[in-house]
Amino acid sequence: MEIACLDLEGVLVPEIWIGFAEKTGIKELRATTRDIPDYDVLMRQRLELLRQHKLGLPDIQEVIATMQPLEGAPEFVAWLKDRFQVIILSDTFYEFSKPLMRQLDFPTLFCHRLIADEAGNIVDYKLRQKDPKRQSVKALHGLNFRVIASGDSYNDTSMLEEADAGILFCAPANVTAEFPQYPAVETYEALKAEFIKASERELTL
Ligand SMILES: [Mg+2]
Repeated sequence: MEIACLDLEGVLVPEIWIGFAEKTGIKELRATTRDIPDYDVLMRQRLELLRQHKLGLPDIQEVIATMQPLEGAPEFVAWLKDRFQVIILSDTFYEFSKPLMRQLDFPTLFCHRLIADEAGNIVDYKLRQKDPKRQSVKALHGLNFRVIASGDSYNDTSMLEEADAGILFCAPANVTAEFPQYPAVETYEALKAEFIKASERELTL
């Protein structure tokens, strides 16, 4: 039994906070862990900016609904679902990603949660667990699944390491250089071929 695990942002959809910053014109929301290494400090800043700009969850979802998955992503997900059970392992938030997940026909998603009050203001966030991508693959192994995983960045490498086969997709040069043990591809056609190669079953494009 095989399961395909995919990262979300950078693999199927654009970076959501960056897209949201562009759509709203709130430049400070472009900050990532590269600018503010402490994730909690970064998230508190994001929530404070949303509060200052009076953006509640419905407003945020309306903005994100104008964003689109990467070109070809919905077709790729459909292709993969036809051949594997598919689980998206992401460090995004359910509430934040929902409008984009709708455009991907809601594949199973394991991520984190935003906490909103009754008026829709986001007041907090809740990470599901530490190192969730690795822990998810471990749990799937505990259920006796073989796991093929693909992601684009550093936060995916523990998932790739834990998986039976790992594939880098559109990863930056420093990541492909640091993790040469994984095949690195740039297109969905090439990614499909890698999934077929990594599978123990006889699959075709
Ligand atoms: Mg990513």
